[in-house]
Amino acid sequence: MEPTQQITTGTRLDPWIDAYAARTQGLTTSQVRALFAVASRPEVVSLAGGMPFVSALPLDALADTVARLIRDRGAVALQYGSGQGDVTLREQILDVMEPVGIRAHPDDIVITAGSQMALDLVVRVFCDPGDVVLVEAPTYITALSVFSSYQCEVVHVPMDDQGMRPEALREAIASVKASGKRAKLVYTIPSFHNPAGVTQGPARRAEVLEVVRSSGLLMLEDDPYGLLGFDDSVPRAIRADESEGVVYLGTFSKTIAAGLRVGWAVAPHGVREKLVLANETATLCPSNFAQLTISEYLATQPWFDQVKVFRDVYRERRDALLESLSSLMPAGTTWTVPGGGFYSWVTLPHGLDATAMLPRAVAAMVAYVPGTGFYADGQGRHNLRLSYCYPEPDRIREGVRRLAGVIKDELEIADIFGSPEAVAGREGPAAPEPNLA
Ligand code: PMP
Repeated sequence: MEPTQQITTGTRLDPWIDAYAARTQGLTTSQVRALFAVASRPEVVSLAGGMPFVSALPLDALADTVARLIRDRGAVALQYGSGQGDVTLREQILDVMEPVGIRAHPDDIVITAGSQMALDLVVRVFCDPGDVVLVEAPTYITALSVFSSYQCEVVHVPMDDQGMRPEALREAIASVKASGKRAKLVYTIPSFHNPAGVTQGPARRAEVLEVVRSSGLLMLEDDPYGLLGFDDSVPRAIRADESEGVVYLGTFSKTIAAGLRVGWAVAPHGVREKLVLANETATLCPSNFAQLTISEYLATQPWFDQVKVFRDVYRERRDALLESLSSLMPAGTTWTVPGGGFYSWVTLPHGLDATAMLPRAVAAMVAYVPGTGFYADGQGRHNLRLSYCYPEPDRIREGVRRLAGVIKDELEIADIFGSPEAVAGREGPAAPEPNLA
């Protein structure tokens, strides 16, 4: 066994350090979480966290909904419910998924505490320690935490501006099989990717699906941002064209309220049964109160108009980010142009190291997430994720101005003295560059 790392709680050594299960070794504080403490200071412009702008919700109407719910249906809303989730809400979720093209039965749906919980349950029911999960390079930080908490091995598949590359996926699956390891899942975020900001077009989706089908693996399609496209078109879910080989994850976190913690999985029959049992083990049942709040909101409010409000808010912020990046960033810096969602993925010039630069950025009152957090294998040193979902446009512009200043200073230092990070970036072990044109 690896020697366990000494972790301190306050000033004391943790007395339980040798008692933890092996699977907790993968549970380290994510860079996003560690950043929140610093980045939440009001003077720092945080382009780090992915917090939805919930202030754009009709809060008075929601307050009325909640008051009415407790008054009229409190005995149900405040009671335990079913492990699969409320049946009325499952029917309403079918309408919510209509724009992404999914046709299903309420019985195919399992409601969970956010889609994060569904992700955890899918991995729990499929993966034994050592099983391989294939993911995009880069991928969602907290999905990596789930895979590592179940002691999965993660294999990254390169992306381009259309997302996961099918040929690279085919090769990665073949090489996992050739090595004698057992591949279990292909995890993908096809629409408005976190963190890459790119979207698979219809042809790319079909190609990726074909590779996954022919490999006999299960696809886990994570789609929290699908309705948040800025040109008002909604990408068709992969699950719309394949019901047996795909588990689809959806959520109300970005279209209604993340704090209610209501998400769902759409799964083939046998998988759905296992997910319900796993859901019961984890939580007995998802919160009835949160589910009925969402259900009432969907039934009584123009929820799709609100989605359009969110699109407008995020489009304006995306534009503020892109315009200021274009006008302020030093030559050699590149970034992706998201057609929806919350994120743009930046590549720093001349081998600058985003992790090493972070303390300087925070001192200059701007925060981002360094790229390495989005990989299980140390890639991403020259990348960072910027999110534009939460700050007002003027704050975004100010944040980019500060960040551009930090990058220019780093470049000057590297030029004059040869910064260790920049030198390491040029001469150190060559981390494969993500191909995110
Ligand atoms: N998947 C992705 C790609 C995400 O970005 C998020 C939230 N940041 C989630 C899943 C989890 O969302 P929730 O649990 O709030 O539904």
